[in-house]
Amino acid sequence: MTTERVHKTDAEWQAELTPQQYHVTRQKGTERAFTGAYWMTKDHGVYRCVCCGAPLFASETKYDSGSGWPSFWEPIAAENVEVEEDRSLFMVRTEVKCASCEAHLGHVFEDGPRPTGLRYCINSAALKLDKAE
Ligand code: FE
Repeated sequence: MTTERVHKTDAEWQAELTPQQYHVTRQKGTERAFTGAYWMTKDHGVYRCVCCGAPLFASETKYDSGSGWPSFWEPIAAENVEVEEDRSLFMVRTEVKCASCEAHLGHVFEDGPRPTGLRYCINSAALKLDKAE
């Protein structure tokens, strides 16, 4: 399946998003731990990209990592996210982006739970929970 690409100008994103959503998703920002909308949420549903609505993570794969950010052990579909090496802040980390609109979502680390051993550490500001009925 090919992912549909969403392209908007910086001004368009800025007009559509809150300042914090814009900072996190379009400027690779990070919300402060334990401050976002979803770090402790246990509601069921699909976490979508706040920018383009693409389905990114399912509540069934969310777990409490203790980090203060929403954490998931796998994306809904591998092709819905893209990863890229991030050498900022004097570390080598793996950035996670929305594959359709290139929103910065967070980072993925290899200290997650089974079955994948991965921890997708995602900013609440990059997500919108589509709650299940
Ligand atoms: Fe997106």
